[in-house]
Amino acid sequence: MSPLKALIFDVDGTLAETERDGHRIAFNRAFLEAGLDWNWSENLYGKLLEIAGGKERIYHYIQQYNPNVKEDLENLIPQLHQAKTEHYLQLLSSGEIELRLGVKRLIKEAYHQGIKLAIATTSALPNALALLEKHLNPDWFEVIAAGDIVPNKKPSPDIYQYVLQQMNLQASDCLVFEDSYQGLQAAHQAKLKTIITLNNYTKYHDFSLATLVLEHLGEPDKPFTIIQGNVTNKTYFDVELAHSLVNNNGSTGLTMLN
Ligand SMILES: [Mg+2]
Repeated sequence: MSPLKALIFDVDGTLAETERDGHRIAFNRAFLEAGLDWNWSENLYGKLLEIAGGKERIYHYIQQYNPNVKEDLENLIPQLHQAKTEHYLQLLSSGEIELRLGVKRLIKEAYHQGIKLAIATTSALPNALALLEKHLNPDWFEVIAAGDIVPNKKPSPDIYQYVLQQMNLQASDCLVFEDSYQGLQAAHQAKLKTIITLNNYTKYHDFSLATLVLEHLGEPDKPFTIIQGNVTNKTYFDVELAHSLVNNNGSTGLTMLN
């Protein structure tokens, strides 16, 4: 019998492209509203993401790209950031930030098969809840671990250790879904097997410790691309594949089921 008991999901970049489709758009709306002609393209935002923190990111942009700012930055930056936060919540609650390919299908399937579900994110709880409420059902998740519920953010394993403790499960009973190097490090240090669904902002990260690296989870009519790892007889990620990855201590794949 398979030991698979739970699937644990990161939120940002994994459930949805919250940076590209959410935060970036919210920054641009705040700029527009303030009468600024700044527009953060998908590519530029990828570079700005190296700067952690929204206010710091705006400040860095002003310094680096030297737009012609006449306003007092000490007032302007917090105002822009506050407006951006409101726009972001609006984007979440309006459903404009969509789930990534295959996420809803996999989570529904797992829930209906009695596999436990959990969230492990170190970003704010209201943001995670707004996304789950709009597209899924927060009640399906046994644990929603978010924000500063643990002292250290990813790549610290704290958030994953907290989730395992809350669910009273062993790492070997679970599979994690992440999209970034920091997330993979956090899960790996908690001894969890990790599936990476990468995106444009994380595709150059080092994912050598991942069990499987995919472009996305795929759908029956939209096959995934396997970037690292071996999967046979599957063109999209489903619960059967999750079982086989947890069962297999060596190579990945479904050969043992055949
Ligand atoms: Mg992430």
